[in-house]
Amino acid sequence: MAEEKVTPEAGWNFDNSYARLPESLYSVVNPTPVHSPKLVAANGPLADALGLNIQALRSQQGIAVLAGNNIPEGAMPIAEAYAGHQFGNFTKLGDGRAVLLGEQITPSGERYDIQLKGSGRTPYSRGGDGRAALGPMLREFIISEALHALGIPTTRSLAVITTGEPVIRDTELPGAVLTRVAASHLRVGTFQYAAGWGTSEELQTLADYTLQRHYPEASTEGNRYLTLLQEVIKRQAELIAKWQLVGFIHGVMNTDNMALSGESIDFGPCAFMDTYDPGTVFSSIDLQGRYAYGNQPQIAAWNLARFAETLLPLLHSDREEAVKLAEAEIYQFRELFHGHWLSGMIAKLGISNEELGDEALIQELLDMMKKYRADYTNTFRALTFGQQEDTPMYGTEDFAGWYEKWQARLGRQPEGGTSSYELMRSSNPAVIPRNHRVEEALHAAVTQGDYSVMERLLGVLASPYSHSADQLEYTTLPEPTSRPYRTFCGT
Ligand code: AMP
Ligand code: MG
Repeated sequence: MAEEKVTPEAGWNFDNSYARLPESLYSVVNPTPVHSPKLVAANGPLADALGLNIQALRSQQGIAVLAGNNIPEGAMPIAEAYAGHQFGNFTKLGDGRAVLLGEQITPSGERYDIQLKGSGRTPYSRGGDGRAALGPMLREFIISEALHALGIPTTRSLAVITTGEPVIRDTELPGAVLTRVAASHLRVGTFQYAAGWGTSEELQTLADYTLQRHYPEASTEGNRYLTLLQEVIKRQAELIAKWQLVGFIHGVMNTDNMALSGESIDFGPCAFMDTYDPGTVFSSIDLQGRYAYGNQPQIAAWNLARFAETLLPLLHSDREEAVKLAEAEIYQFRELFHGHWLSGMIAKLGISNEELGDEALIQELLDMMKKYRADYTNTFRALTFGQQEDTPMYGTEDFAGWYEKWQARLGRQPEGGTSSYELMRSSNPAVIPRNHRVEEALHAAVTQGDYSVMERLLGVLASPYSHSADQLEYTTLPEPTSRPYRTFCGT
């Protein structure tokens, strides 16, 4: 007798707290089934952490769920409403090509949004087709997993499915659905939507929900909406500092792409900086350099000011008083960011006991890196291992002078050389998802159906601080080209 093959349970365990919020904040909508779903990327460790069985996800039934062809028990698909400032212009938006299946409650009791991105049209699709192309979904998979491994809060990627249907962009591209996992999809833009189109009760309900979901430990005494503003500002200050420290450029920091949980979200044209230059922009649509590397902290503050504006009616019954309260908090962002950035930067130089002159030492190095067009990641890696790189910066008098000052500074470290080395090793990644490596992986996957290049890249990116031998080939720079690297929004 043939043994019956039993697929294990996937382990879906949904709650739908967002769907219990006021109805104006979302639309109930199912994903649109796709023609012939195929699983092309799956994240085993993430599945484990969520209490999901990877074998079951890989089965036909599992894939049907990840493709939006089958709604698992307990899920209640919705598209979230939001608004946002896109490159400074305020617009009504919403999940135009994504649905939230529900919130997976993990075995340890954590709550994560499970969202299908590229899952078809919704009431917020405007002129769009509700679909996503394979390349950008794989890019999101790679970059989000790389950020996670770098220790940076981020939404994550559980799986990518190809749909067997083409999407029409400039050319015809293979369609895909990404399963995104997030602490939530609450955005600055969600509050902008509620403040712009909802009632004051709805706004308050949303604020209470956000506090409970992301800041449950925050004090409920005093002005709790001021607490919400403070906590969101704190997390963003920490997040943006972490981006700056590894040279990550989000690329499209619109207010709808800033999560209130403090996670990195909505990777469109994002990329990592290679040559150090605060003006670095990769996005093809960021013509003014609004979202350049060096502008990210001030853009974050601008976005947070938009968030604070939505909270004004909750902060104080007197508008002038409310504005005063909000302004004082926004003012704090710069300082909080700067504190995180400075302590992160000195760690990159092996320094743990902050001294007054440390910032000048850092600035001198950064100025030199800019002048000699030094690679950001490799410079810090070389300093960690005491290597002299074969690049224009090394061998200059500028560098020799700076190096001497740095060595003298390290000499004033109480713990001595070994701990400086350890600190640098764990603060300076060996590998980042370099643009040419990401492109190479996407090209093989999208044009040849060859996922081995991406899998190898993901493997290397999974432990960026291990500095292992197999990572070496991923530290090399691309051949110089006359054309600057450009990323596209991925819609
Ligand atoms: P994004 O650039 O991905 O942050 O998206 C900005 C807005 O455009 C969001 O409201 C998206 O839901 C919407 N959008 C992006 N691509 C599509 C698409 N292909 N179809 C419908 N809506 C889309
Ligand atoms: Mg977005």
